[in-house]
Formats: sequence, C-alpha cells, structure tokens
Amino acid sequence: SVPLGVFAGIGSASRVGALVKGGNYLELLSDVNCIIFDKTGTITKGNFSVSKVEGNSNTLEFAAYAESYSNHPIAQSILKKYDKKIDFKRVENYKELAGFGIQVDLDGKQLLAGNQKLLANENIEHPEVYEIGTIIYVAYDHNYIGYIVISDELKETSKQAMDELSNLGITNTVMLTGDRNEVATQIANDVHIKNVHAQLLPQDKVSILEQYLGQSGNTVAFVGDGINDAPALMRSDIGISMGGIGSDVAIEASDIVLMNDDLTLIPKTIKISKKTKGILM
Ligand code: ADP
Ligand code: MG
Repeated sequence: SVPLGVFAGIGSASRVGALVKGGNYLELLSDVNCIIFDKTGTITKGNFSVSKVEGNSNTLEFAAYAESYSNHPIAQSILKKYDKKIDFKRVENYKELAGFGIQVDLDGKQLLAGNQKLLANENIEHPEVYEIGTIIYVAYDHNYIGYIVISDELKETSKQAMDELSNLGITNTVMLTGDRNEVATQIANDVHIKNVHAQLLPQDKVSILEQYLGQSGNTVAFVGDGINDAPALMRSDIGISMGGIGSDVAIEASDIVLMNDDLTLIPKTIKISKKTKGILM
C-alpha cells in the first residue's frame, strides 16, 4: 500500500504544475543528484531569429528552399526571414539529417543547409565563421554559397532554476546539444550549468547519458522539450518533459510532465519530494 503522504505529495506537485506519474517517481526524485538538460527548447526558448545573412545574394532564398519542409525551430526562423512564397515544384528529394541539417535537390541540383559537419561530409570548402550564434551554412551544386547566423534566447528562469538546484545540493548539472561548442559553453556559463557536451548527434546524447548513469551513486534525471529526445527521456532514471510544448511521444516517454516550460518547477518539485520523504522540513 502507498502511504498517504505520497498522495499528498503528488497532489502538491500537481498544484505547482508538475504531473508525477506515480509515487515511486516522487520518491526517486528526492534522491536525484545529477540533472541533464537538452539545450534547444529546454534551457533556451527555441525561438530562433536570423541576425545576419552573408555571402552570395541567393543565400537566404536557397536556405529557405532547403528548410521549406522542416518543422525545426531553425527552419521556422529562416522561412520567416525569407517571407516569400516557396515554389514547391523546385524542391525534390528532401532529407532532414538530424544533427546536421537539410539535403534537398533544388532545380535538380544538390542543396545543403546545415552545420559545418554537413558540408565537411560532402568535402565542400567553406570559410571558418567566428560569429556568436548558430551558423547555418548553405551550399549549392557542391559549392559554398554563404551562411546565416541565427540566435536563440535564454529562458528567463533557466539560471534561477540552476541556482535553486544548487541550493538543494544538486551541483552536477549537465547540458547536451547538437549545436557547436562556442554557443553551448556561453549558454552554460550564463545559466550556471556545470558540464557541457556539444556537437552531439541524437544517438550521442543517449551514450553520454549512459556514462552519467554508470557512475556509482548517481540518480540521473533528464529534462527535454520532447523534440528528438524520447530515447533519453526513457533511458534516464527519471525523464522530465515539458507537456505544454512536448509531443505525445515525449509525454508518454517521461515520468514527470511539467505543465509549462518554467524550469524552476524542477527544484520546486524536488522540494516537495524531499518534504514527502521527510528529509526537508
Ligand atoms: P539541440 O541539440 O540543441 O536540441 P538539434 O539536435 O535539434 O539541437 O540540432 C543540432 C544542430 O543540427 C543544429 O545546431 C544545426 O546546426 C543542425 N540542424 C538541425 N536541424 C537543422 C535544420 N532544420 N536546418 C539546419 N540545421 C539544422
Ligand atoms: Mg532539441
């Protein structure tokens, strides 16, 4: 039988906006000492906007054509900036390469829009870009065309959430991202996250999570917005997703669903779990 205190704890958690899918997760949450966060949409808002377009005059048009079928927040920002109709007849063989970008045929020739790794895989020479933000390189017919700088915004509550976790004794915080190192390190410093792993492919995120799970004494929570992170949500000791924006798959894969995207809900819910267990009075 479940002690009454656990029901009360689950009730308190739901009143602050965290749906805990069972008493065992509320109890496990009081032991969490390592929390791993996905970057885009979790630490940041996932609202990208274009801050610069550089290169050939076709750069923005080509990028918009490449992104025309993508739902990624990067794609939405580029299409918003382009702001013209897409002639879908020009686009064929669309492929979204998770962690790299997009490959399509435009007017029968190969078009690429994505990160440096995407161009490197096709041996397309391109300049080194030193700008702050996420860089989307564009190449057409095996030639470099230009690049677009886009930037995301931090959530106002991310830093406060890390500081509250640290006050609860949880200092082993980790950020995982497919984005490049410079951007990731800057964000982690800004929001007081201790460990950063960047330039990851979706499958790398699970193997890094497994390294943390494998360290003795670790109870590991993973927090994601649900875009491409269901495997990490399932593999962690406790998977936490943001129900407000997450997909059905992510909600299904997680043990705790946050009803909005405010990360301070995590320390709040941990406090409730510790109180329920009688650790914190
Ligand atoms: P995160 O790990 O921060 O959640 P993603 O795994 O979604 O980010 O993407 C990682 C990287 O892959 C992006 O920073 C970008 O370089 C590239 N990328 C992913 N999707 C796209 C896209 N639709 N267009 C261009 N580049 C993309
Ligand atoms: Mg993501």
